[in-house]
Amino acid sequence: MSTESPAKPRDFIREIVDEDLRAGRYQTVITRFPPEPNGYLHIGHAKSICLNFGVAGEFGGWCNLRYDDTNPTKEDVEYVDAIEEDVRWLGFSWKEHRHASDYFDQLYEWAEHLITHGKAYVDSLSAEEMREYRGTLTEPGKESPYRNRSAEENLDLFRRMKAGEFPDGAHVLRAKIDMASPNINMRDPVLYRIRHDHHHRTGDKWCIYPMYDYAHPPSDAIEHVTHSICTLEYEDHRPLYDWVIENLPVPSRPHQYEFARLNLNYTVMSKRKLLRLVEEKHVNGWDDPRMPTIAGLRRRGYTPASIREFAERVGVAKRENIIDVALLEYCVRDDLNRTANRVMGVLDPLRVVIENYPEGESEELSTPNNPEDESAGVRSVPFSRVLYIEREDFMEDPPKKFFRLAPGREVRLRSAYFITCTSVVKDESGNVVELRATYDPATRGGDSPDGRKPKATLHWVSAAHAIDCEVRLYDRLFKVEAPDAGEDFLAHLNPDSLRVVPSAKLEPSVRGAHPQSRYQFERLGYFCVDPDSTSEKLVFNRTATLKDAWAKMK
Ligand code: ATP
Ligand code: MG
Repeated sequence: MSTESPAKPRDFIREIVDEDLRAGRYQTVITRFPPEPNGYLHIGHAKSICLNFGVAGEFGGWCNLRYDDTNPTKEDVEYVDAIEEDVRWLGFSWKEHRHASDYFDQLYEWAEHLITHGKAYVDSLSAEEMREYRGTLTEPGKESPYRNRSAEENLDLFRRMKAGEFPDGAHVLRAKIDMASPNINMRDPVLYRIRHDHHHRTGDKWCIYPMYDYAHPPSDAIEHVTHSICTLEYEDHRPLYDWVIENLPVPSRPHQYEFARLNLNYTVMSKRKLLRLVEEKHVNGWDDPRMPTIAGLRRRGYTPASIREFAERVGVAKRENIIDVALLEYCVRDDLNRTANRVMGVLDPLRVVIENYPEGESEELSTPNNPEDESAGVRSVPFSRVLYIEREDFMEDPPKKFFRLAPGREVRLRSAYFITCTSVVKDESGNVVELRATYDPATRGGDSPDGRKPKATLHWVSAAHAIDCEVRLYDRLFKVEAPDAGEDFLAHLNPDSLRVVPSAKLEPSVRGAHPQSRYQFERLGYFCVDPDSTSEKLVFNRTATLKDAWAKMK
């Protein structure tokens, strides 16, 4: 039997877990991922998912999915469904599926426990007054005149709050800790507030709702969570987390650990901002391929493996930084280079007539599906007298450094033949509308027996066999690296973030491809079939271009 530790620690969280197991503090590692169902998950959440589910899995424990549904107004079943789909798609499964609201009864009972033990009181200051009494970073707070109510009075008021006797804002339940604490979170934080609101799971049962800081630690304890992992902004809340655990008769002692959240350039990640993009129709929904949401990345053509790899490369640390979106693109390119079959497609077609190729005939040429993966096999592509090439692969009067097609010049057509342009056909305004060319039958398959090596290899499709597809080309949603920095992030939207090519010409092998099928279009980039596709017309999203800015930067 192996006595090795279950995983090699790669970051401080894994080191802590490893050490806790070695010291016998826990038998099983239990984590949780606690999204608030008020929006779709984004790439930042993916980092947290990969960490929570990853750590639990590596050390042989488990992770719960727990909805933080303590806030009754903002929740939506659409979001709940989307969250589950996204977590599963990323390749993770949860042990238990819980809601903070599952614990409302228990949390209420424990709030009475705090009151009975003189650890909580009902405060009747207005919100405004509470702010004044709280003090500042440099000045201590003041104690509320209601702070020394008796346990009986507090219990009576709290029960009447629960019974619905008071309007919103009339009272709150506060922890009795220390109004002079240098940590403002410890200055008698609010535990419950009155909200006469319908909750999507508990209906109208409650008109008081617990605050996140009060609900989270006991929820962790009830689930026997060992490592409660969250982002750095909760570091200052940790003393409160520990206070709640210490003062309640909870069944276990979880600990909170904080890591730096993921920040990515050229995008925004707050759900509030993403919601504005959706509601104000700057994008076509939460799964718009330009969105940093998991649903958007999926529709764009990202693979789960590429996102997990990205999370791994970003790592888990204690210091905030901003990750270049080029790293995310690098990860998907790297994965698709190995896994995506190649096809040929022309986005901006220019007709080429091969004058010495027999009219009405065609042939099938064999080409590898993926030169990086022999097991992907080969396919055949039809070749005939009339072809399309990319308009930008031809210049009538080329400058020195242009090696592609030009009058009198020979190029290779990928897996096909060498062709030489003999003349151009123009319309009345002088635009090139067609090329005339000859082909060399001896170069079938793309090599010349006499060792001639053209400087360029072009992609092409046979005009008679090509199918028309819509292709959507995406650019960054924002023009600037930090759209969040200024006043209005919407001012930085990139007006050219989506360009639609209504009729690209694709080789016929893609006919009938299912949504989510991923390809490399030779020389153009990685593309993925969009769910908007119909049996008449396929729609492709460009996932990423082939050019790799990140690899060059390294
Ligand atoms: P937002 O501020 O965008 O609404 P949030 O933090 O309130 O996000 P939650 O649904 O509460 O969103 O987050 C669920 C979990 O995901 C939390 O543990 C949170 O710390 C984590 N998380 C959220 N954003 C990021 C991020 N950018 N990087 C890493 N983890 C994140
Ligand atoms: Mg939150």
